[in-house]
Amino acid sequence: MIVIMSKSMREEELQGVISTIENHGLQAHIVRGAEKTIVGAVGDKSRLVKIPFQAMPGVEEVIPIITPYKLASRDFKPEDTIININGVTIGGNTIPVIAGPCAVESKEKLLEIACQVKEAGAQLLRGGAYKPRTSPYSFQGLEEEGLKHLALAREKTGLPIVTEAVDMNSLEKVAYYADVIQIGARNMQNFALLRAAAKSNKPVMLKRGLSATIEEWILAAEYIMSAGNPQVILCERGIRTFETYTRNTLDLSAVPIIKHLSHLPIIVDPSHGTGKWRWIQPMSQAGIAAGADGLMVEVHQNPSQALSDGGQSLTPEKFKIMMDKIKGVALAVGREIAL
Ligand code: PEP
Ligand code: MN
Repeated sequence: MIVIMSKSMREEELQGVISTIENHGLQAHIVRGAEKTIVGAVGDKSRLVKIPFQAMPGVEEVIPIITPYKLASRDFKPEDTIININGVTIGGNTIPVIAGPCAVESKEKLLEIACQVKEAGAQLLRGGAYKPRTSPYSFQGLEEEGLKHLALAREKTGLPIVTEAVDMNSLEKVAYYADVIQIGARNMQNFALLRAAAKSNKPVMLKRGLSATIEEWILAAEYIMSAGNPQVILCERGIRTFETYTRNTLDLSAVPIIKHLSHLPIIVDPSHGTGKWRWIQPMSQAGIAAGADGLMVEVHQNPSQALSDGGQSLTPEKFKIMMDKIKGVALAVGREIAL
C-alpha cells in the first residue's frame, strides 16, 4: 500500500502516518518527490486493513499496490532512479557504456584494455575476478589479485569498476574494491547473497537469471532494496529459450517493460545475451532504441586467446566502431552516449 500525502501536509501529519505503519509492525519507506511525498508500507498488509489512512490528516490518497514488489515499483516511486557511481550516472538522459574483459587475466592485459576502452568512450570498466564458470575445470578467476588489478586500472584510468561477487566470501572482498557489485545470472535468486550485497551500501548490478521471469527478477531487486539499499541496476543478459543459434535469447522487450513497471535503471548486456561478437553491435543499437539506460560489453585484445568468453568479446577496434554507431541511435531516441 502507498499513502500519498497532500502537497500542503504538515511534518507531524507525515510522522503520524509513519508511526501508524510502524506500530503495526510494517516498515515505512518515504519518498520525497518534487511534487509529493509518498509513504510506502512494506510488510504484512493484512495488519493495516482496518486502519482508515484515508481519513488521517495530511493524506491525499491511499493506493493499494497489487504487484508483489513495492519498493521497486513505479507506483511507489514515479521518478526514474538515477544512480551515481563516482560521477558517472546510470538512469538519466546520458547512457554510459561498461566495457572490459570477461575475466581479469593479468595486470598488464587489464591495464592495456582499460586504457583502450576508455579511449573509445567507455565510462566504467568491467572484469571478473571471481568467475561463475559452467565447468569446474574452466578458469575460475584471479580472485583477490584480480581485484587489486582492477583497483590499479581504476587509479590509472579514472574508470569506476564493476565486478562480480559469486558467494559470501568473495562478496566481502568485492565490496571492498568495487564501485558496483555485480550479482550474476546464476545467483539472481541467491537471497542470502542479495541481502548481504545490499548491506555493502554500494550500487548492485543485478543480472537477470537464466530462466527468470520479469516478476522474479524485480522481486530479486526488491530483496536488495528491502534490505536497505535502493541503488539497484538491472541488467538484461538473455534468457534460455529453444533457440540454439545464440547462447541466450536477448529479451529486449524486458527493457520497456521494466521501465514501465519499475523506476530502476536497466542496462543491456549483448555479449552474454547473444554469445557471439557479431551480434553485439546490432543488439547494442537495438537495446538503446528500446530505452536501455546503459550497455555492458565484453572487450578483449585478442579474443581467440581469451581465458573466458572470447567468442562474445569485441576487439578494441570493433568496440570503437560500435561506440560510434550507438551515438546516432541514442540521439534518435532523445538520449546521448556519455563520453
Ligand atoms: C559476466 O558478466 O561475466 C557473467 C558471468 O555474466 P552472467 O552472470 O550474465 O552469465
Ligand atoms: Mn563473460
